[in-house]
Amino acid sequence: MNQKPALRLVAGGLDSHAEWLWFCGHCAAPSPDAPSPSARVCPSCGLGLLLEAREDAVPSSRDAFLVVDSSLLIQAMSREAQGLLGVTEELAIDKPVAELLVPADAEAQGRTGFAAAIAIAADGSDGDIAHAFVRPWNTFGVRMRARIATCGPPRAALIVLDSGRTPALRAVTSREAAPVAAPTVRRGRGRRH
Ligand SMILES: [Zn+2]
Repeated sequence: MNQKPALRLVAGGLDSHAEWLWFCGHCAAPSPDAPSPSARVCPSCGLGLLLEAREDAVPSSRDAFLVVDSSLLIQAMSREAQGLLGVTEELAIDKPVAELLVPADAEAQGRTGFAAAIAIAADGSDGDIAHAFVRPWNTFGVRMRARIATCGPPRAALIVLDSGRTPALRAVTSREAAPVAAPTVRRGRGRRH
């Protein structure tokens, strides 16, 4: 019989171990201070809503990212995502995310993997960061890594796409860094003295 891990107690459903930061849901401009509830429009671009997410999930201004609610409908997208997916934010709002992003290698991860990860993140009770491989609806033969985490308020899923075009400047957390089976011993290349 499998023993289920004990449920973690997390304050407000958010991961209390990670620091949360405010950023703009459109241009990703950071907001050092928590905005007042009545002034959540980004002062930088004037378009996006300020959102909070785990520090290691917050996108940069060059990231293609989307904000998707628990009904899997798009609530916001960055300029990079608009370019990548060939859709303006205005047209994408309230569209099912499945119309813009489809799971890559559906057989490998199951058809529901991507959607399930979004639903869990939008629910916000987990607090962990999930990953899935997706491709844009309009491009075949592309495989992009999507980082899926909780953001809000209101609680939603933040999907950051790694298109491979921008180098990752931020530090990779140990959770994200996949253990690579690198050869630890290099033979046959010893320097002669
Ligand atoms: Zn902004």
